[in-house]
Order: sequence, then C-alpha cells, then structure tokens
Amino acid sequence: MSTTATVRVRFAPSPTGYLHVGGARTALFNWLYARKAGGQFLLRIEDTDKARSTDESTRAIFRGLTWLGLSWDEEVVFQGANLERHRRDAHALLASGAAYRCFCTTTELDERRKAAEAAGGAFKYDRRCDALAAAEVERRVASGVPHTLRFRVPEGTTKWDDMVHGGIAFPNADIDDLVILRSDGTPIYNLAVVSDDIAMRITHVMRGEDHIANTPKQILLYRALGAALPAFAHFPNVLGTDGKKLSKRHGATAVGDYEAMGILPEAMCNFLALLGWSPGGDIELMDRAELTERFAQDGFLAKASVFDMKKLEWMNGQHLVRMPFETLTPLVIPMLNALGVATDGLDGAKRDWWHRLLEVLRVRSRTVDELARQAAPYLTVPVTFDADAVAKQWKDPTLTRALLTKSRAFLAGDVAWDAATLEAGMRALAEAEGLGAGKVLQPLRVALTGQAASPGMFDVLLLLGRDTTLARLDAALAHPHLSG
Ligand code: GLU
Repeated sequence: MSTTATVRVRFAPSPTGYLHVGGARTALFNWLYARKAGGQFLLRIEDTDKARSTDESTRAIFRGLTWLGLSWDEEVVFQGANLERHRRDAHALLASGAAYRCFCTTTELDERRKAAEAAGGAFKYDRRCDALAAAEVERRVASGVPHTLRFRVPEGTTKWDDMVHGGIAFPNADIDDLVILRSDGTPIYNLAVVSDDIAMRITHVMRGEDHIANTPKQILLYRALGAALPAFAHFPNVLGTDGKKLSKRHGATAVGDYEAMGILPEAMCNFLALLGWSPGGDIELMDRAELTERFAQDGFLAKASVFDMKKLEWMNGQHLVRMPFETLTPLVIPMLNALGVATDGLDGAKRDWWHRLLEVLRVRSRTVDELARQAAPYLTVPVTFDADAVAKQWKDPTLTRALLTKSRAFLAGDVAWDAATLEAGMRALAEAEGLGAGKVLQPLRVALTGQAASPGMFDVLLLLGRDTTLARLDAALAHPHLSG
C-alpha cells in the first residue's frame, strides 16, 4: 500500500475585490494539480482584514470559480473563523520559547525606523524586548501593558526547492523578527496562513510570485510549530502586452468581465493555463480534461507571461467551433435574452434548426456575445434594420425596391426550397437584370437579416424558411427608406 500523502492544495484569495485573472490563473493551476494527482482542491477565503473584506467580493470569487468550472472540495474555509487557533499557535510558540513578548509601541518603532532610514540603513528590530528579564516581562504583563508576540528568527539560511524556480535561499539575517500576534490579539498574515495550511493538511502551497518573500518566514514558523513542510510553487506574474504587471490600465482584469464579453469558460481556462505553464510541443488548444491530463510540474515556466487579448479571442473562436451544441446553447440563451430576444423552443421543438443556425454562425464569431448578436435576427420578428447597412446596401431606393420585389416574386413562386435551386434562381434573376449576383444578394441580405454581413445567403434562406423569408421581404418593402 502506498504511504504517499494525498495531494491537498488550496486557493486562498483575500475577498477585497473581484476575482482577478491572475488569481484565477493561480486557482486553475492548483485545481489542475489536484485533479491530475487525484487529490483535493480547497478554497480558503482570507477575510482577516475586516476593513477591506466584503461579502460581495466573496460572492464574486465563488461565482468566478464556478463559471470557470473550478469546483472545490470540502467546505469553504473562512480564515476569520480560525482566530482562536491562530492565537493558540502563537501562544504555543511563546511557550516553546520560539517567540517573545514585545512591548515596543508602534510610535517607538516608527521613530526607530525613521532614524535607521535617515542614517541610510534598513530598519531591523533590535530585540530589546527579548533581552528583558523574565520578572520584568511578568510585571508588565500583570499590569496589563499592551504587547505583541514576536517570532525570534533563528540564525542560518532558509532554503527550499521551489517547484517553479528551483532552489531559493534567504539568509535569516535579512529577516526581521516578525510580529505574529498584534497587541489586540489578532494574528499577522504569515501566522494565520501557516496555522491554516497546517490545519488543512496542505501538501503543496502554490501561489503567485509576490509571496516569495513570505515563504522563508512561513518555513521558519512551520519548523517552530513542529509541522511538516509543504512543497512550494510560486507562479510568475501575468503581464500586459507592454511588459508591465497586468492592471486595470490594460483593460478588463476581472474574470466576470470576460464572462460578460462572451468568452467561454473552456477558452478562458485554456488561455489562463498557458500563462506560466506549457504542455510542450505545439499543443495549444485543450479543454479542461486535456489540460488535466497534460498538467505536470515540469511544464511550469519561471518567466512572466503576457496576457494577450487577441490570443484569448482567437482561442475563444476555436473553442466556439469545437464545443458541443448542448454546452454552447445554455451560454448563448442568456445573452439572447439580454438582447430582448425570446428563445423558446431552442432546446426543444426548434433544436435541430437551432443547431444548424449555430453551425453556420459560430465559425463567424469570436465570442458568445457576438454569436448571440448574429443569431438575434433569425429569432426576432420584426428584424431591426441596421442604419449603416440600409444606407449602404439600399442606396438607390427605387432600384432596391424593384430588386426586392422581383426576388420576392421568385421566392414566393413554385420553387423547391433547397440551396441549389435557390442559388440558380437568384443568379438567373441577377443576370436578367444585367447585374452581378452580389448586387441582388446584398440588398436581400439586409432585407432578411437587417445586417450587412451574414452567413452565405442560401444558408440564410434555408434557415429562415419560405414563410419567414417572405414576411421579412414584406417588412423590408414597408421600410420608410423604400416605401417613402
Ligand atoms: N491571501 C493571499 C492573497 O490573496 C494568498 C495567500 C497564499 O496563497 O498563501 O494574495
């Protein structure tokens, strides 16, 4: 029987804003790592900063992860609920002698920091409280003097083998004796994280590179608490196309914005997975199952990666074409409803027709939003005529009226409703007028779809069917631009 511990990883966002795409990338890597290893992916909301944490942000995190399909195992852990354990752990460190009480006030510390900086040096706590006699410490505690608990950083060097960056070492001399418990009894971030990761039996701590400087402190805390160390992975930053760290300046950074734009969760996962990881070779397009199958530590990249919106859109178009209709439909329907378009029957009586429509439209769309906009004219009665399309394609109202009237006569006649027959008839009509086919089909396109661009005209005629086609031609002929 294997004794290898089950992989347990966690995503630990602070609920102080929306779910950022960089955070989503970290969540995805943890999720993929867990799923690949048959382990657990846990979610911990780090809500200890009460002033900045909001329920709204927590909901945005849940929603973003759910949309991406990153399901978590076990109950969500709220860090703030573990305050008692954090305190117990801090006091255990005090009891074992790994920490000491510090009575220096914030004002005193600030003054000393300023003085050190003015003298051109970096401030480091001078351990004066560690030097206090035990009786003096007892006296101050007994008389209620406020104090923090500080961790005494031992001598030596703290090293780990990072799963992304390889060996990293920090001389302990560079690490200040860190406060672990504030004078109001609340824990400092590094203590809360370590206490929770131990309690949650986390085997791999995988997070953004911003946390590298915290890691030596956390390793020292694990050791002092007598806990086994997890493995650490620090993923590189996500940059904008200008090489600067991705921020609002570069455009949308919230996962929810991409959902609203009509990006598919599958495409978003595929795109995010390649920000800091590579499956090797030329493989680029992968759904979540393929990502999971290929995900491996040796593909982690130490170099920062660039968030390129154009690539995301391209990738989205590729996923749009590959996706099963059953998965695509529930994503398009809300977008259509948001456009005020009724969608009755698309999943039932009109299903085959709807799938044919999706088939011809999705190759022409990059986002679900675009797809919904293109689909709207096939579902709405009456059609909304795009003003630019009318101005351009119906430039000569008299000629347009004549051509549409003739087209209507042909389409209303005894003609088999199949692409070959319709195409032959429309071409013959154009020829009889001494015009190129486009000159007849373009005005017809606007009449039938309201738009200047659409799939091939004969696909459109087949999708609309004869009755709707004729009804739309009548509506077009009644348009003020043509009837006036
Ligand atoms: N709450 C931290 C953050 O949002 C993450 C802590 C961790 O992953 O260790 O950056």
